[in-house]
Amino acid sequence: MNKKVHNFSAGPSILPKKVFEQASSSINNFNGKGLSILEISHRSKDFVDVLEEARSLAIEIAGLDKNIYSCLFLQGGASMQFLMTAYNFLNKKAGYINTGSWSTKAIKEAKLFGNVTEIASSSDKNFNYIPKDVIINEDYDYLHITTNNTIFGTQFHSFPKSNCPLIADMSSDIFSRKIDFSEFDLIYAGAQKNLGPAGATMVLIKDSLLDQVKRDIPSMMSYKVHIDKDSSFNTPPVFPIYCILLNLRLIKEEGLDSISKKNKIKSDSIYSEIDRNKCFSGFSDVSDRSQMNATFNLNEGFDGEIFNRICLKNNISGLNGHRSVGGYRASIYNALPLESLNILVDSMKEFELNQ
Ligand SMILES: *Cc1c(COP(=O)(O)O)cnc(C)c1O
Repeated sequence: MNKKVHNFSAGPSILPKKVFEQASSSINNFNGKGLSILEISHRSKDFVDVLEEARSLAIEIAGLDKNIYSCLFLQGGASMQFLMTAYNFLNKKAGYINTGSWSTKAIKEAKLFGNVTEIASSSDKNFNYIPKDVIINEDYDYLHITTNNTIFGTQFHSFPKSNCPLIADMSSDIFSRKIDFSEFDLIYAGAQKNLGPAGATMVLIKDSLLDQVKRDIPSMMSYKVHIDKDSSFNTPPVFPIYCILLNLRLIKEEGLDSISKKNKIKSDSIYSEIDRNKCFSGFSDVSDRSQMNATFNLNEGFDGEIFNRICLKNNISGLNGHRSVGGYRASIYNALPLESLNILVDSMKEFELNQ
């Protein structure tokens, strides 16, 4: 038997065991047809059913209207969406709130297509907070935010209000909490944080946003082309989409209310230990803490090697902080069980007692 590893990896990251079990059996024999999910046509009924169920489940879980929004599964990661959103919708100027490395990258790409205003930024404090009360009084083609900052461990707990279309990178907190998804005109999420394996990016887009497209856009970069072709303009990432479907079924079964509550319990538990333990300090502002990525640093005078050894002994994996923050980052996505979190909290306590 494999040893039980507690996986705090930031991405690609933990998924429900049930997804792995069902996905593995479908690699050998999909739907009992004697063929692997990896070797059937993306135009076959078996796969078209997978794609259609995944697209409609995503819209349903988000509580959106399928007559108003479309769901796509594209390739190229969230990083491709940085340029695709701007390519399609940035005509004159767009407003971005810069809350970290991913926002910064999105801004860099958007600048290739038009004027970009950084309406607010938390770069002055190494992105350890979310700018508040941002006033948006200009007519932007759209406003772009990163709802959860995977690297720095901050998260928007409410979203800026304006008359401009709102676009969000939700790669690391999609379907982790109950929010009003209809506040957004376009949401994109690389699958590998909370949704499925790397290789597919989910896009939820309000169809009316397409009216805003003014330029000629190459087919692969055009949301309209992908929508018109039911997310199968070319071969879609078949296997990642299948795994996403398996996970979406579980998300629907549990419901976002229950998932929100569990994630709150999990994040409260790690943050209260960070605040209590004399060896560690939290990185981000308390009011902006992420429920998905808890970042914390070792206080001066304590020996990180000892903590690393305790983590190793307790089979804790993937706890290293991103190089731009240092310290530790516990990514506590939907699929991470409370049991794993308890092991981490116990390891932090054990370290403190060792001092
Ligand atoms: C991981 C991540 C990205 C990058 O995703 P890719 O799929 O590697 O392009 C972008 N934004 C956020 C918020 C992320 O967490």
